[in-house]
Parts: sequence; structure tokens; C-alpha cells
Amino acid sequence: MTDRIRSIVIVGGGTAGWMAAATFARLLPAGAAKPSVTLVESDEIGIIGVGEATIPQMATFNRMLGIDEDDFLRRTKGSFKLGIQFVNWGRIGHSYFHPFGAYGVNMAGVSFHAFWLRLHQLGEAATPDDWSIEATAAARGKFMRPFDAGNSPLSNIAYAFHFDAGLYARYLREFAEARGVVRQEGKVVDVCLRGEDGFIEAVTLQDGRRIEGDLFIDCSGFRGLLIEGALETGYVDWSKWLPCDRAIAVPCEGVEEMTPYTRSTARAAGWQWRIPLQHRIGNGHVFCSAHLSDDEATAVLLDHLDGRPLADPRVVPFKTGHRRRFWHKNCIALGLAGGFLEPLESTSIWLIQSALARLMAMFPDRSFPAADIDRFNRLLLTEYEEIRDFLVLHYRATERDDSTFWDYCRNLEPPDRLKEKLGNFRNLGRSFRDNGELFNDTSWFAVMLGQGIAPRGYDPLADAMSLDETRRRLAEIRNAVANSADYMPPHRRFIAEHCGA
Ligand SMILES: Cc1cc2nc3c(=O)[nH]c(=O)nc-3n(C[C@H](O)[C@H](O)[C@H](O)COP(=O)(O)OP(=O)(O)OC[C@H]3O[C@@H](n4cnc5c(N)ncnc54)[C@H](O)[C@@H]3O)c2cc1C
Repeated sequence: MTDRIRSIVIVGGGTAGWMAAATFARLLPAGAAKPSVTLVESDEIGIIGVGEATIPQMATFNRMLGIDEDDFLRRTKGSFKLGIQFVNWGRIGHSYFHPFGAYGVNMAGVSFHAFWLRLHQLGEAATPDDWSIEATAAARGKFMRPFDAGNSPLSNIAYAFHFDAGLYARYLREFAEARGVVRQEGKVVDVCLRGEDGFIEAVTLQDGRRIEGDLFIDCSGFRGLLIEGALETGYVDWSKWLPCDRAIAVPCEGVEEMTPYTRSTARAAGWQWRIPLQHRIGNGHVFCSAHLSDDEATAVLLDHLDGRPLADPRVVPFKTGHRRRFWHKNCIALGLAGGFLEPLESTSIWLIQSALARLMAMFPDRSFPAADIDRFNRLLLTEYEEIRDFLVLHYRATERDDSTFWDYCRNLEPPDRLKEKLGNFRNLGRSFRDNGELFNDTSWFAVMLGQGIAPRGYDPLADAMSLDETRRRLAEIRNAVANSADYMPPHRRFIAEHCGA
């Protein structure tokens, strides 16, 4: 018999708060053993509302909740994403695509990348995009979900979503409230700690309401009201590796062609995102305030929109890094309250999902076992570090020397693990996925190559196949990819037929 958790209090109703609420509503045991779940949020403070691009793992979250994907996209005015186009990152005038999924197929136990590099180094294969169904379809504005088509690339189309963050929070709220989560509107003005051990006992709202709980989930955004404001957990600053510290966000009118991908365009002191939704395009300029003022950043952003702005540009300051402990005492920080690595590869919502999955795997009782908490913190920290290294790669591996910002990035000292990965790639073009790391070998390969790193050679094991056979097999795969992309409908038509808002 354990001292089970009787009540959970979530502070914050942004994407993190409602994802947590929906997860608890769906997965905690029913009946008398079910803890009460209360979510406190303040309409006056509002949500950050800019996290609108995701990675394919999000479909697993939807499935876990039992959400119908078409309904979710209709309600959030969402679209599909096959990867990210990076413009001007390696050098001005150059672009590359980081696709979801994989290039080609591995053959005879050797990575496809090795065979491709062999032909590339002979001048016979310009871009690996021709061997990726996601990259090829994206370039043609096509999309469809995968279906069982045997060996065809159509059986394996990896995709994620773009959606309206405000509508998503509302959608999850409906889901969670229908399953018993109680929402309390109000501003938390005080956090009461237990005398004997400093655990959180209750939060007090502006109107005097006191909400007690056994377990507190801090989803209060950058302010980290509980984890930092009350528990003073500390923050690890990663801005020497990821120096951007502000964003200007503005939605604009959409255009006829709805691209099935996110675009990231490097600018003189940062980069600009473009996220196409059904009813508008989300845009933002992420930049480093040491090199650019808010006014300058806003002007750059407004100069590069597809349509008329639909709101005033909004400034969002941030500091890249993470809390020293994501789970401290009886408080777990999720979302921006836990840390932020900047949105370059759309990983923040995934980090919420991942932390929730780990929390459910290590759901505590009221003894709050220290070993479980340590494991949770260790695993999440590793994940943050692995993602950080992947993001740093984009800044570090560049030829750009047109601004002091890019001079800084080009010369920064990479974290050790990234240094090793750069060495692996520069030599024989190898890219590896370490243990359970989020980004796979395709992602590392796409970005290393895309950023302009040219490997000295290729995996010698690829020579086990004759050059003619390599050419024949690669041509076969490239044709299958091209034919599959031909077969796919335009992205906008697919949306209209399945999930148009
Ligand atoms: C510029 C930028 C771009 C991003 N782009 C992406 C992206 O493309 N993809 C992605 O995955 N992620 C992205 N993110 C991250 C993503 O926006 C967040 O991870 C996600 O929205 C979760 O935010 P949140 O719920 O933690 O915080 P918020 O949305 O800030 O929510 C905080 C909540 O806490 C409440 N609150 C705060 N203080 C109090 C109080 N005193 N009393 C009561 N309630 C309170 C607020 O009312 C609000 O409900 C981006 C972030 C930024 C900054």
C-alpha cells in the first residue's frame, strides 16, 4: 500500500499545461484511485502562443490521447510538415532540406548514406533530396499520409504538423475538461511551502482562493513561478552555444500555395521562421540582441512576409538553457518553465511530450522516491543536451562571414559530443544516432551536408558493391521516389479533402 497522490495542481494553461492535463485525464487510473487534477491559468497573463511547428512524434501523442488526426487539424487550422527548408544557413544563396524519414534504404548492412556519398564524390549525385520522399514531395508542394503500398516509398511518409497554438490549447482544454480536469481562472500570487521539507503545499490566487495539492506541475512559462519563483532551483545558461535571445513574432495573410514544410531563413543576426497554416502564416525573427535591436529585427521581419501582417509584431525575450532540476521536491517543470532551446528544429513541444512520458513511467507516490526523481532529471538533461548539440551544429557549421553574429557562431567552441560527431562526418561521412537520441542519422547527415561540410571520403564498406550495381540501385530508388511524389496530391487539396477548417 502506497501513499498515493490524491491531488495534482497544474499552474499554467498554455500548450504545456493543457498537454499535461490531457495526459493525466487520459492515463491516470479511473475511479476512487484517480487523483483530482486542477489547472490554474490566468487569461490576463495569457499564453506565449507561438509554438506552432512540430516533429513526427506528435502523432504518437495524439494517438495516446485517442484524438482523431483530421479533427485535430480541422480544429487547429493545421497543416502538414515534411521537414524544414533551411535558406542561407551554410552560405547566402544556398538552401537545403532537412526531411523527416530517411534517405533511400540501407543495403547489405551498409548505410545508404555511404553509397550516396560514393556517387556524390564522383560528381554523380547532387543532392540526397532525390532519395527522400519527404524532400521530393515537399519541393513539389505535395502531401499524403502513408498507406500500405508494399516496397513503395508511399508506405513510409514521415510527417508532422503545423497548427495554431491558441486553438490547440483550447482543443486540449475541451478534451481535459470533458474528462474531469477542473480549470480555475485566476492569477497565482503566492506559493506556500511546507515548513519541514520545503515541498509545495498550496498556491494562493489573487482573490484569496487557496489550492492545495500533493504534486505540482509548473507550466507557468518562462517565469517558472513554482520551480524558480518558489523553489529557487537555478537555471543553466546555454547562451554561449545558442546566442539568440529574442524573437519578434507576427502572423500574416496566407498565400495560395500552402507549403508542406517549415522554412527557416538565416538573417544577419539570427533567422526567420515561416509556418503555413490554413488561415494564415506564422512568422517570427529569432535573433541575438547583442547584434541587432528590436526595431531592426522587426523591420527585417516585416520586409520578408508573404502577405499583410494580421497583428502587431510581438517581442518575446528568452534565455536558452534549462532548470538545474526539472523535477525538484514535489514540483515538475514542463514546457518553457523547464527550459528553452530556441525553436530552430521545433523541439519544445516534443520536450513537453517526452517529459510527460517519463513522468508517467515514474509516476510518484507521496514519498517522492529520490532515485526516480534523479533518473527523471538525468534522462531529461541528456535529451536537452543532445538536442542542444544538434541545434548548435546549424550555427557552428557555416561559411557565413558577413556579420559579427556569424563570425561569433562560426568560431564558437562546440560541445564535446558535437565535436566528435563533426569528426565522424568530416572523415568518412558517418553520422550516428546515439542510444535513444531524438535526431536520427538522417537528420545529422542532412544538416551536416546541408551546412556545407564535405566529408573527405565515404564508408569503405560501400565498396563491397560494384560501382555499376550502386548506380543501378540508386537510380531505381530515385525513380521510385519521383514516381511516388508524382502520385501524391497537392498539399492544399489533401487538406481540403480530409481536414479543411
Ligand atoms: C519564439 C518562440 C517560438 C517557438 N516555436 C516553437 C515551435 O515552432 N515548435 C515548438 O515545439 N515549440 C515552439 N516554441 C515553444 C512553445 O511555444 C512552448 O514550448 C509551448 O508553447 C509551451 O509553452 P508553455 O505552456 O510552457 O508556456 P506559456 O504558453 O507561456 O503558458 C504559460 C501559462 O502560465 C500561465 N501563468 C503564468 N503566470 C501565472 C500566474 N501567476 N498565475 C496563473 N497563471 C499563470 C499563463 O496564463 C499561461 O496560461 C516556441 C517558443 C518561442 C518563445
